[in-house]
Amino acid sequence: MILLAHMLFGAAIGASIKNLPLAIILAFLGHYFLDLFPHVEYDIENIKNKNWKKSLPDFSRVFLDFSIGIIIIFLFSKNQPIIYVCGFIALVPDGLTLISYVFPNKVSNLHDTIHTQHIHYLTKKKRFPIFWRILTQVLAVIVSIILLKS
Ligand SMILES: [Zn+2]
Repeated sequence: MILLAHMLFGAAIGASIKNLPLAIILAFLGHYFLDLFPHVEYDIENIKNKNWKKSLPDFSRVFLDFSIGIIIIFLFSKNQPIIYVCGFIALVPDGLTLISYVFPNKVSNLHDTIHTQHIHYLTKKKRFPIFWRILTQVLAVIVSIILLKS
């Protein structure tokens, strides 16, 4: 899923669970939970292929995605540090996958296989209509905002 959906979901967990270690673990696992649902993703092929000269649009999309997430958390949450911490923790799995593209090694490659092949099974191997692939993310964002506000 896009970073925005992951960040908001993690932040919502941070807003809902008052036990810090538990909130951090759930925010991390929540990333994989959301990725189980079929979804659309924008392409960062140039980053994946280390095609740095052409990767500015890819980095811009990631930056925009991330910034909108921060703004929504700022606007809709009570802004406790735990909310931001959990929002960032929810991005760690994608960070690990990004690291495996740039610095491949056994551990990061294993994580990448589990994350992008197994967890993304419904996205990669099944062709769900685009409507459902967008709806899953819209729902994740709406549910997260409701939890953030409460
Ligand atoms: Zn992911």
